[in-house]
Amino acid sequence: MLPVVGLIGIFPRHFCAPPNSVAAIWIKMTNSKRVLVCGAGGFIGSHLVNRLKSEGAWVRGVDLKYPEFSSTSADDFIKGDLRDPIICRESVDQRFDEVYQLAADMGGAGFVFTGENDADIMHNSALINLNILEACHRRNVKRIFYSSSACMYPEHNQMDPENPNCSEASAYPADPDSEYGWEKLFSERLFLAFGRNYGMEVRVARFHNIFGPEGTWEGGREKAPAAFCRKVAMADDGGVIEMWGDGEQTRSFLYIDECLEGVLRLVRSDWTGPVNIGSDEMVSINRLAMMTAQVAGKVITIEHIPGPLGVRGRNSDNKLIQERLNWRPVAQLIDGITKTYGWIESQVLKQRTPELAATAEAGASVPG
Ligand code: NAD
Repeated sequence: MLPVVGLIGIFPRHFCAPPNSVAAIWIKMTNSKRVLVCGAGGFIGSHLVNRLKSEGAWVRGVDLKYPEFSSTSADDFIKGDLRDPIICRESVDQRFDEVYQLAADMGGAGFVFTGENDADIMHNSALINLNILEACHRRNVKRIFYSSSACMYPEHNQMDPENPNCSEASAYPADPDSEYGWEKLFSERLFLAFGRNYGMEVRVARFHNIFGPEGTWEGGREKAPAAFCRKVAMADDGGVIEMWGDGEQTRSFLYIDECLEGVLRLVRSDWTGPVNIGSDEMVSINRLAMMTAQVAGKVITIEHIPGPLGVRGRNSDNKLIQERLNWRPVAQLIDGITKTYGWIESQVLKQRTPELAATAEAGASVPG
């Protein structure tokens, strides 16, 4: 039997005792997983923290910043720079049951494909991954998830917008079209090497365009679904929105809830190899924009302008995830766009109405 002081010593920092017995508290405590989420202030990381909390885990988040659009639900949040090995060691000051590494210097096409941010993208994200792995190895963390990207697939397999090849096995010979993709490929290999050499249970997902509410929607780092939701929300009915390129390039987009479902299933599976987590509902960018206008109930004309584009075609190949996890994303794109448009439209309205914006700011971006 543990002494009372021993029990108190292992309670999470912000633990609130339920009204029941000490025994009930003890059962709850011993059932709680301890989880670290790196990048917990970002889009996917902040949603992941919410999901893990809803499952009863004790969660520590770490990021350069708190979530932008709502309070974090993490039990503990370290605001720090993961390029610094000391911050990484402080973040991994105990043996976590699961670590999720989502922190990266990243953004949409306007950030990744112009070439202007290449050095930062490669240097910052590689440093984060090197430091976090070393800190986890020191603390003997066993299970660690790494968020890679479909951007690591070779350009030569993604020239045909109707028939891109993004099967996991097509990754080599490698030829990503961006330095962001090369860094992801390096880091995938780094994680897998730690898995092989140090007995860590490494899980790697290659995300394909994740979107949803509370993601970056302006400022240059936003992705296509958020950018079109913003443009359509700001346009008048009958108005014009700009689009980079001819809009015939294809992509697929995965709603955040299904992304998290896939991540958790992968982490708790025994499949080690990288796997796509994406939708296989491939659409042209023109179709994405028109779908957004349809959701908004507006007639919109597209003006095509030059801009950074990425590969001509990309779609998630979901054969492997179905085979290994007996699961794959199935939600319809339009349902995710409907939820995301509603949220971005409300952000646009807040910006236009100063008193609403002030109320929103007062409640945002503080740890919970
Ligand atoms: P995000 O930019 O919203 O989140 C990344 C977070 O990392 C940010 O909050 C940022 O502050 C944090 N970060 C960056 N540098 C840091 C540092 N030095 N120290 C601490 N924190 C730092 O991006 P996201 O969409 O949530 O993506 C999460 C992960 O998934 C990233 O690794 C990204 O490359 C990968 N991914 C995302 C998508 C997508 O469509 N969203 C697609 C493919 C891969």
